[in-house]
Amino acid sequence: MSRLYPRLCIVPLCAALLLSAAAPAAQPPLALASRILPTAAAPTPAVLPYIKVPAGRIALTHVRVIDGTGQPAQAERTIVIADGKIVAVSPATAPLPPDVRVLDLSGQTVLPGIVGMHDHLFYIARPDIDAAGKSEPPLMVPEMAFSAPRLYLANGVTTIRTTGSVEPNTDLNLKQMIDAGRIPGPHMDVTGPYLEGPGSPFIQMHILKDAADARRTVAFWADRGVTSFKAYMFINRAELKAAIDEAHRRGLKITGHLCAVTYREAAALGIDDLEHGFFVNTENDPGKKPDSCTKSDGEDTLAAMDPNGPAAKSLIADLVSHHVAVTSTLPVFEQRVAGHAPLWPRAMAALTPEARESYLYLRNLTANAPEETRARNAVAFQHGLAMERAFVAAGGLLLAGPDPTGNGGVVPGFGDLREIELLVEAGFSPEQAVRVATLNGATYLGLQARIGSIAPGKDADLLVVKGDPSRTITDIQNVELVFKDGIGYDPGALLQSVRGRYGEY
Ligand SMILES: [Zn+2]
Repeated sequence: MSRLYPRLCIVPLCAALLLSAAAPAAQPPLALASRILPTAAAPTPAVLPYIKVPAGRIALTHVRVIDGTGQPAQAERTIVIADGKIVAVSPATAPLPPDVRVLDLSGQTVLPGIVGMHDHLFYIARPDIDAAGKSEPPLMVPEMAFSAPRLYLANGVTTIRTTGSVEPNTDLNLKQMIDAGRIPGPHMDVTGPYLEGPGSPFIQMHILKDAADARRTVAFWADRGVTSFKAYMFINRAELKAAIDEAHRRGLKITGHLCAVTYREAAALGIDDLEHGFFVNTENDPGKKPDSCTKSDGEDTLAAMDPNGPAAKSLIADLVSHHVAVTSTLPVFEQRVAGHAPLWPRAMAALTPEARESYLYLRNLTANAPEETRARNAVAFQHGLAMERAFVAAGGLLLAGPDPTGNGGVVPGFGDLREIELLVEAGFSPEQAVRVATLNGATYLGLQARIGSIAPGKDADLLVVKGDPSRTITDIQNVELVFKDGIGYDPGALLQSVRGRYGEY
């Protein structure tokens, strides 16, 4: 949740801003790549129990490859890995190089490691929740610094953008520990603390005072090493503008889950990305006033919007022409749909008993909602799916992440896989859905030369699943092995270590 800086600068300050704006960009793209994907350190003993295939020269033979570009899957391939990189992708009949460890993965499919673009490190707790869904203030958001990184890695998510932080120091230190090989986890684009205005129910967030505060907040956290920013629901246009300008001045991108500011307003201000597909665009919400959030947070606008109508076309064209990416977060919105897919048993096993209880209470309430609410949520969800497809058809860059918040039914890692299934439900081919969850995220981050697809020269960040998701998308759940920088991690060992922990720490 971010707030912007209004343009209220007095003359000396404006001059200073102009001067700094004229200075060369603080972070050239290469520097950002080396910060998000630094050279891998050797794993320390604490990480060894989670490694199934140590670094080395490795050939994955007889695999099907879904390469992340959207091209059709290819059967009977060999992928050769050395020094943490993919060095060759060839037909299985090609001779193997000498001195490789051969892993015959017949019947399995290799995909690029997922680039999760709405992948938080916290859980939303509801203190003393009861069966009627009542909980006591304040709403607390405990940090899952132990369980979330393991859940992501275990499910093939090798790079995450944290997309809003409640404990930015924890996130920055966590990234350092992971990069140093001291704990298992994905590569991280650490997003700064939510840039939020007055009205937020989240007690852990800083509330911006004005545009100058927004600019200072961005500058402060950029100096401390965060590599992206996120604006939140109650930020106003002036604050958002100031935050965008300060982030861009430093070569960093900024996204938003907005409410007081509409999608078109944010695009005009220069935002890089909009979270939650088309679910939180408030422009046609009843009673919408400039710079003020609505009760429905966009659901009214989406439910009333014909995905093939002129209003939808015009909105999408506006975003595409401003080069604004959109992040699909379907799993969290699926939770509003009565009778939605149940939580997979392996994900359920990761929850604490309290998180499990909270999830089941809230799921039950969704199922028992008044008919009118259920019907409206179902329509909005279908419109959301269709709008995301239309956005891509119009040339928009769609990213993906599950947003593990909501009612506890979205769990890190598992949610990233569910997101791919829901993109297929939206009408994308499995290969296109995988591209949204891999290469598109890498492209947005400027890391497409390193990650996001399977090609010689790229980092060996790979997801291996049993079966063939290009035919049966649910096969994507069968994660067997996850490579990060050429090291093969063991999903079973990672999941076992966080059994019953998600919701606690
Ligand atoms: Zn979120």
